Amino acid sequence: MSVPCVRVPREEGEATRKRLAERDVVSDLHEIDVVDGDIYIPLAADADLAALREEFEVVDREATERETQTLPEDILGFEPSYERLGDIVIVDEDDAERATAITDALIASDIPVETVVNRASPIEGELRVREWDVLAGDDTETVHREYGCAFELDIERVYFSPRLATERRRVIEQVESGEQFFDMFAGVGPFVIPAAKRGAECVGVDLNEAAIEYLERNAERNKVGSRVTAIHGDVREVEGYDDWADRIVMNLPHSADEFLETAVELAGDDSVLHYYDIQHDSDPFGPGEAAIRAAAEPEYDVSVETQREVRSYAPHELNVCLDVRLTR
Ligand code: SAM
Repeated sequence: MSVPCVRVPREEGEATRKRLAERDVVSDLHEIDVVDGDIYIPLAADADLAALREEFEVVDREATERETQTLPEDILGFEPSYERLGDIVIVDEDDAERATAITDALIASDIPVETVVNRASPIEGELRVREWDVLAGDDTETVHREYGCAFELDIERVYFSPRLATERRRVIEQVESGEQFFDMFAGVGPFVIPAAKRGAECVGVDLNEAAIEYLERNAERNKVGSRVTAIHGDVREVEGYDDWADRIVMNLPHSADEFLETAVELAGDDSVLHYYDIQHDSDPFGPGEAAIRAAAEPEYDVSVETQREVRSYAPHELNVCLDVRLTR
């Protein structure tokens, strides 16, 4: 079977493998092969190929399958859908018998898994946390790796979505060293930590005390503690950052419009706002743009630089992002 592989000269093989492993994109299912002085490192099925192609040579190749790997589908006879967050596997099954069968197969497979959980509620409340049925194991705390950063978190106490990795990377690639970066709803730091790694001075605020504890630990774990200020509280009540931010991230999509007045207070003379929203697919960007203009004009010129569909949220509902420049 043809698999995308990163090709590098043999002498760069180990360093490249380490860089790819840090991002958790090396396939567990295929061997690393050496052919004619080049090393071929196979990539995982969920690797972001577009982002990797910007840094590496990616080629399709008949990679050698690892014979020892047993996957859940080999045991079940069908391919279950699941997400991995560190060593936690998340399934989304309504049928209890099917959930148990998938759990048993995951545990018996060669996938590194400590805990299996099933979604037991929607994401709820101000803190945007979900309830889980723990089907195997008991530890809901893990360390998840994303694009070279490590995030410690407990899925029972904080919000975290591995599905947003590509979108976060898109934003982080715009961050410049030395800029002042303010995340109004920071969670455990999936925007703040990589922004600090790029050299930004970062402030992350969250109402969830557990998220702020993890954000502080993640700043230390990723060696960016000196560039990260973590603040527990309602972002509307945080003082001392008026006129401060070069870049503001607002990832609270159902109610971000209620926080635009605060965002405008935080903005400096020339700031970029990354505004996440959930809207009907008939007009996914219009309401967000109107709300931003209502809050920022006439003090600021408002220019929409990017309109991006992040993912489908529900039938006819889209999760979108507007990148908006505010110029005083
Ligand atoms: N940015 C993180 C991420 O991408 O994983 C977390 C996003 S999560 C959708 C929204 C976060 O906003 C939650 O962690 C929640 O606790 C926090 N939050 C909700 N209301 C808040 C408020 N008034 N002030 C600060 N944080 C708030």
